[in-house]
Amino acid sequence: MAIHVHVIDVKNQLQNYIWLIEDTATQNVIAVDPTEADLVIQYLEQHHLNLGGIWLTHWHKDHIGGVPELQHYKNVPVYGPREEISKIPMITHPLQDGDQIEFANERIEIIAVPGHTLGHIVYFVPDEELLFCGDTLFAMGCGRVFEGTFEQMYHSLNRLAALPPQTKVYCTHEYTQSNAKFALHVEPDNVAIQQRTQEVNTKRLAGEITLPSSIALELETNPFLRANSLVEFQQLRQLKDNF
Ligand code: FE
Ligand code: ZN
Repeated sequence: MAIHVHVIDVKNQLQNYIWLIEDTATQNVIAVDPTEADLVIQYLEQHHLNLGGIWLTHWHKDHIGGVPELQHYKNVPVYGPREEISKIPMITHPLQDGDQIEFANERIEIIAVPGHTLGHIVYFVPDEELLFCGDTLFAMGCGRVFEGTFEQMYHSLNRLAALPPQTKVYCTHEYTQSNAKFALHVEPDNVAIQQRTQEVNTKRLAGEITLPSSIALELETNPFLRANSLVEFQQLRQLKDNF
C-alpha cells in the first residue's frame, strides 16, 4: 500500500487526533487538522518523515492551531475550504466540492459537507477507501450543527453514508464512548450498538483509540446515519445537544 496512516493522540481536553498520512515511497506526510505543531514535528523527526503538506477540514481553532508554526517549520502547501479562507488566511490551496488533488499517486476527492461549519470539507481517497472527515461524521455520532441548517447537515451525512461501505472513517475526535452512551439511549435494543459499546469501553479502558471506524459500521450503529428523515435527524441532534 502506498499510503500509511499514523495517528497522534493529542490528549487535550477536546481529545483531538492528528492523522498523518504517509506516502511510503517518499516518506512525505500530510498532517490533517493539526491542532498543534510541536507533537507533529516531534513525531516526524522521531520517525524520519518529512512534512509534505497540510489538509484542513474547517476553521475551528482545534483544527488549525498548529498551522502557522508548521508553516514556519517547513513551507508546505496548506489545503483547506475556499469558503472559509477569510477565517483561515494560511490556506495556500483553496478547495471546494468536486475538486481533486493528488498525493502519493492517489486521487483525493473533495466533498463539501456544510452543517458543523458552512465551509466544512472532507477528503476522500477512493482507491484506498479512506475518509478524513473532521467534525462532520464521528464514530456513533456527528458534529454539532453550529453554522449550517439541520437540512444541510442531514444532506452532508447522507453523502458520506453513500460512500463504499468498506471506507475507513478517520474523524478528528475521540468522542466514541460518550456517543455510544447516547446511541444506546435512543436504540436500547440495537444489538450492534450494544456490542460496539462493549468493545469501545474495553478499548478505552486499555487506553486504546477507537478509530478508524468504517461506513458499514456507522450504518449499523450511528443513530444519526440511521435517521429515516430530516425531522428524525433534527430531533436526535437536538436531543444529543442536551444529553
Ligand atoms: Fe469543529
Ligand atoms: Zn474539532
